[in-house]
This record gives sequence, structure tokens and C-alpha cells, in this order.
Amino acid sequence: MALLSKRVGLLDTENAFKIGPKIRAVEAQGKPVIKCNLGEPDFPVPAFIKEEVKRQIDLDNTHYCDPQGILPLRKAVARHLGETRGIAAEPERVVVFPGGKPPIGLCQQAYCDPGDDVIYPSPGFPIYESFTKYVGARPVPIHLPEDKGFTLSGADVEKAITRRTKMIYLNFPSNPTGGVASRAQLEEIADVIRSRCSPDVRIYADEIYEHILFDGARHESISSFPGMEKITVIVGGVSKSFSWTGGRVGWALFPTVEEAEIFRNLNINYFSCVPAYNQEGARIGLESPLAAAAIRAMVEAFQERRDLIVDGLLRIPGIRCQKPKGAFYVFPNVGDVCRSLGIMDAYRSLPADQRARTTPSTLLQMFLLFEYQVATMDRKSFGRIGTENLHFLRISVATDKESLKQAVVRITAACADVKGFARFFERGENLS
Ligand code: PMP
Repeated sequence: MALLSKRVGLLDTENAFKIGPKIRAVEAQGKPVIKCNLGEPDFPVPAFIKEEVKRQIDLDNTHYCDPQGILPLRKAVARHLGETRGIAAEPERVVVFPGGKPPIGLCQQAYCDPGDDVIYPSPGFPIYESFTKYVGARPVPIHLPEDKGFTLSGADVEKAITRRTKMIYLNFPSNPTGGVASRAQLEEIADVIRSRCSPDVRIYADEIYEHILFDGARHESISSFPGMEKITVIVGGVSKSFSWTGGRVGWALFPTVEEAEIFRNLNINYFSCVPAYNQEGARIGLESPLAAAAIRAMVEAFQERRDLIVDGLLRIPGIRCQKPKGAFYVFPNVGDVCRSLGIMDAYRSLPADQRARTTPSTLLQMFLLFEYQVATMDRKSFGRIGTENLHFLRISVATDKESLKQAVVRITAACADVKGFARFFERGENLS
């Protein structure tokens, strides 16, 4: 009898959490690392939210609460989604979760049976793919084209849909690419879904980056197109909008009250409830007139840093880089750098078992971390299936400007250091 279930062995992970010990190992040698791996804003939680959370704790609002989420927050979420998406939204259809992440897997548990197809973007947030095998569903990645800014056309979605399609994940602005679909693209996708999918298919609109848009753009949601709100689960939260990843408050608006009740019960089974004082903090984040200015200041900083890093990366021979329209990541193509540094040949020379654990972009990621002290994320951290010949890095701009300038200097030097890579590879350590 084996200790662990077969099922748990099928679960993948989010490498952004896994890379921490490696960074600490480098820093323990007295070499500070520039952390361009982070998936969280580097700003403090806005003061008016902090004050409300403290006030709620002082009011002893520290007990179990409604597993579906406290009514004042569900009302605020419903109002926010109703106003910004132009849809009907009632608090009875809103469920609060400990972050924007839990509904990703819970939806697959609630909607999918073994053998159902789950469509998701690649590169995309790794948890979409991670859960498919765990629930016995079939992962169907749609590879987002770099030359179209990592967005998606109706035709791309159409090609992926089969009779077995049960869920379709969409994520704009996107992690890890910062890609944002235009209104016309969303309309096209909505048309395809309406004509090709049964009403029992669920669209998972991961809109956690809804407030982080550049160049004055406004958020567009698939749920705003005719008929889509009846089949779309809209997900958001405080982690990005209010720079509050530690608050663990996220929410989803479900198409029906019956579905919301299923998720209320999943919450009872898994979490009981989300801390009420943090939910009150989230409520004030959505309701306060102070929120807009706090978000604007953060977005302006991200936009300035995006420009700085994209300009810097484009000066490096061999790097191609799209200009992201939202979120706080850039996703440069490093294929030519991998070739010129000798990484492709080095990768091919590895024994099969070692090759299975790494990729060319992983070797570049490790070379940057251990030899140049810049932490990034490799391509396989954002979906593995069908990505063997794709070579990208994710660089987060949730780091101050001076550090980002220094990161560009270090990446530029690393990308020309053929001998340095050869020495690093020769040592045979930290290759995955
Ligand atoms: N979806 C996407 C696309 C994300 O990037 C993240 C966070 N990195 C989440 C969901 C999860 O957010 P939370 O921390 O609120 O669980």
C-alpha cells in the first residue's frame, strides 16, 4: 500500500512559491538578489483599508462568519460587478473565498467529471493546468501567439472546443504576459462560445488584474456581451487591486443562486469561512472613494516601470519583447539568447532524466539567478503541455525602479557571457 494517493501525485504547483529557497540560498552567500520573480504588488495596503481591518479586530469581529462571505462584502462585490460589467448581479450569487486562487480548482471539482475537457490559455496561470489532471479532466491549452500580444481570437477558441468541453478559462489582463484582449476580440470569443457550447459549459473569467491596465485603458469583461453572464463565473479579489496578497480575500459571481450554494458548501467543507475583519477591509476597498487614487498611483508606477524594462530588454541583442497592456509582468522571448549563449546545445547534451526536469529557459533562469542574482520565472512555470520549443522568461515589475534598472544591466551582461554560462553548466549544479 502506498502512503500517498495517486491523485495527489497529479497535482502540479506554482513555481513562484517554490523558487523562494533557491533565492535564499543565493542570499545566504552574501549576494543580494533582485526579485523580478514576484507575483504581488510591492506597495503597502492602502491606509484606509488597514484602518478598517484594525477597527474590526477591535470590535471583536474575529469569530466564524457566513461561509458564503459576509453580506456587506457580497453586496459591495455585486454592486461593483453590476456597475462595471453592465450586468445584473445579486449578493446571493456572490461567494467569497480565501483569495482569487481557490475558485480555480473548486470550479473544476464542481463542474467537471473525468474525461471532460478544460480549455485554458498557455502561457497562463499554472493552477488552471495543475487541477485538470487532479480532477481527471483533459487539459486543452490554447497557445497564445506572441506576435498578437498574447491575446486570443474567436478562431483560436473555436479550434479548441469539442463536445466534451466543460470549462474555458480566460484571463485578461493576463499573468504572465500582461496581454489584454480587445473588445472586438472578446466579442468574437463570445460569439464562438454562444454558437458552439452547451449552456452547461462554464466560462471562468479570471479578472483579478481588472484594475491594472495601462495607457488609460478600461477593463472589458466577457460577461458584458449578450448571453454571457448566464454561463460566466467572474472572479476577482483584493490581492492585486489593493496590493493585499496576505489578506486572502477573493470572490466569484456565479450564474445562478444554486451554483453559489454549491460553492458555499465547498467552503464549509474546506475553509469554514474567510476572516470577517479582512472581508470588511475588502468591502471598504470596493466602496471607498479613496480607492481610485490608491489604485491610480500604483498603476502609474507599474506603467513607468514597464516602459523602463521593455526599453532595456529591447536593447539586448536576441531578446524580443511585447509591450504589456496590463498586470505587472513582461514576458520576453529569449530563444535567440538561449542559442547564442550555447544553452540549446547544453540542454541537448544532458542525460534524458535531467533533460526531463529542465528546459532551455530554465537553464537561463538559473544562470541569471545564481551567477547574476536576478530572479525570474521560466516558461514551464506557466503551463507545460506543448511548450518544449518555447523559450520565454517572466519578469515582474513589482520591484522598485532602481532595482529594475540594475536588473537590466545584469541581464544584459549575462546574455553576452558565453564563457560564464559554460562554466555554470560545467559545474552541473542548480540546472533545474
Ligand atoms: N489568478 C491569477 C491570474 C493570478 O495571477 C493570481 C495570483 N498570482 C491568482 C489568480 C490568485 O490570487 P490570490 O492571491 O488572490 O489567490
